[in-house]
Amino acid sequence: MRPEILYQLFSPVNRLTGIGPRLAALIEKLAGPNVIDLVWHLPNGLVMREKVTQLSTDYIDRMIVVALHVEHHLPSRNRRAPYRIQCRVGVDPLTLTYFNGREQYLRQQLPENSERVVSGRLEEFNGAFQITHPDHVATPEDAGEIPLFEAVYPLTAGLTNATFLKASRQFLPLLPDLPEWQDTALLKREDWPGWKESLIRAHHPESEADLDRDASPRARLAYDELLANQLALELVRRQMKRKAGRVLKGDGRVESKIRAALPYKLTGAQQQALAEITADMAASHRMLRLLQGDVGSGKTVVALLAMAVAVEAGTQACIMAPTEILAQQHYKAIAPLAEQAGLSCQIITGRLKGRKRTEILEQLESGAVDIIVGTHALFQEDVVFHDLGLAIIDEQHRFGVHQRLALSAKGKNGKDGVDVLVMTATPIPRTLALTAYGDMDISLITEKPPGRKPVDTRAIDLSRLEGVAEGLARKLAAGERIYWVCPLVEESQLLDVAAAEERFEMLQHLYGDRVGLIHGRLKPEEKDETMRRFMTGEISILVATTVIEVGVDVPEATVMIIEHAERFGLAQLHQLRGRVGRGGLPGTCLLLYASPLGQTQKARLAILRESEDGFRIAEEDLRLRGAGELLGTRQSGLPEFRLADLQAHSRLLAMARDDARLILEKDPELKSRRGAALRILLYLFERDAAIRYLSG
Ligand code: ADP
Ligand code: MG
Repeated sequence: MRPEILYQLFSPVNRLTGIGPRLAALIEKLAGPNVIDLVWHLPNGLVMREKVTQLSTDYIDRMIVVALHVEHHLPSRNRRAPYRIQCRVGVDPLTLTYFNGREQYLRQQLPENSERVVSGRLEEFNGAFQITHPDHVATPEDAGEIPLFEAVYPLTAGLTNATFLKASRQFLPLLPDLPEWQDTALLKREDWPGWKESLIRAHHPESEADLDRDASPRARLAYDELLANQLALELVRRQMKRKAGRVLKGDGRVESKIRAALPYKLTGAQQQALAEITADMAASHRMLRLLQGDVGSGKTVVALLAMAVAVEAGTQACIMAPTEILAQQHYKAIAPLAEQAGLSCQIITGRLKGRKRTEILEQLESGAVDIIVGTHALFQEDVVFHDLGLAIIDEQHRFGVHQRLALSAKGKNGKDGVDVLVMTATPIPRTLALTAYGDMDISLITEKPPGRKPVDTRAIDLSRLEGVAEGLARKLAAGERIYWVCPLVEESQLLDVAAAEERFEMLQHLYGDRVGLIHGRLKPEEKDETMRRFMTGEISILVATTVIEVGVDVPEATVMIIEHAERFGLAQLHQLRGRVGRGGLPGTCLLLYASPLGQTQKARLAILRESEDGFRIAEEDLRLRGAGELLGTRQSGLPEFRLADLQAHSRLLAMARDDARLILEKDPELKSRRGAALRILLYLFERDAAIRYLSG
């Protein structure tokens, strides 16, 4: 339950005067639905005005506030000519110029023979002083209302700065006096003001330096946000660890059989990761570990061996993938090896129905199944394990903290204790990993299996698309397979599909029925069927939207073509590229871009050409684009930050992590006075879910 003191902040923005349903909808898109979202929406610019009493060429191009006498109006004679108002400042003439000015309105604002105070940028035009579109016009009595410092807010089409100024004049005085949750010594050391003062100052910048991320009010607010994030993760972590884990220790009998059946040896990095995982499983606390490894680094076999250990220890294991195709692929990779080692392995997906499903569920509940592969379908209530010891979640960035918890609750008698291993192929920069997975221990696979050849990556202008398409004939003749990924259209899946269909038709024209099409609007069965035909080689060119993005393994695929590569995230491009060159044949990746490219876009494509190191690419991407865009936070389950900038505030993040640990060490239930204030902080940043892990 949200504390009452925060009710006003969490009411919808349209309760503010001047914000009706139309503006509220625009604000919701830009900032969020509630007043608190406006509170966090800080200015990113500033207009500074100088009060002047007479005009001088020294003031040209500066923002001034000046008292003037209005002489006469010169309405425009045709539509293109501006409306001019002749005024005088002392003895100097000054013209106010309006394009598309409405006469009636202007005569009312600036009547002839009246005194007014106006503000705007002073210009010189044909040797005379001029202000075009004054930004404020006031009577001498109201002149004090023209601010000398005016915050400029990030805007979107349809919203004006005035809306935000008017809103902030309303909500700032209403900010509640919240108890201080930060340590007094820290505030002193960093020279940070209190929460309310920080917000008031952040909304009233008076110099460029005040807009800096390191300006003390802004740094304080960023720290608040980071602390809320780290505190929430630490609470989850403690909750997970509090439940005693099981000691899952193998005797090597299954593991050795699987190793013997593998056509290759584990790499050093795989060995190392497996050793960390099995040591964690054997310990008496519960495992909550992230296994990070670039595409193709060989995570699946590490997962299988960990599951083998869980089975040796007398329990069951499951592995969950984000899509049907991936679950099937895991099953195909895992089941034969598992069965050779004498284990029973099954698969449960949303499509499994009827008798077959009932049968598998019974086997799962009786313990006849050792390893189960599945999708989200594993969360279903009637999926009951005999004794689940290890849960593995693949491609974590499609899932969130809540799913981690839900799956681990599938343990015996609904009690906890299940060891959890999360695998991700999306290299996550250290800073981000801390905010998203701060609750987990991390293992890295930093090396790829031997024999992988680098993928020849080239950026090519889109205008050469036809040539590229025709050039594929050679590859096809050599029996190679090709992915053709179509542009990502953020706003609409329909447009994605249209683009893919158009490309499909063009390629079909060239290569007939060797071309297949796969996109998000097809039925799962249709997708699988097309995927299957591509895997078996019945079709050789697969035109796709990004549904193939994650994890699909077709060793014969050698060419990856990505249209409008500039629209994709770097991490995503890297993932896509990782789909080719897996089978020993050298791979090619063609990044087709629409010119002209911006500086950042150019730099991003260059990184991709230079490097195949997913971690380096991710770090660079973070540097170039910022965290929010990196993985598409909304879909990724990664937290979004309103005030903190993970790049600029990495020092604060590390501080917040230590702080959170210390706080909960001393006050695990947040029961002290500071603890109570920290609970408010968690609500303020909508980390409410974590509060459930506090008893009382
Ligand atoms: P990812 O980490 O992307 O999930 P996979 O587990 O799918 O990678 O492995 C990619 C490919 O590498 C698979 O075909 C797998 O059989 C192969 N592989 C895994 N480990 C090794 C190894 N140590 N030596 C050679 N090939 C390996
Ligand atoms: Mg994989």
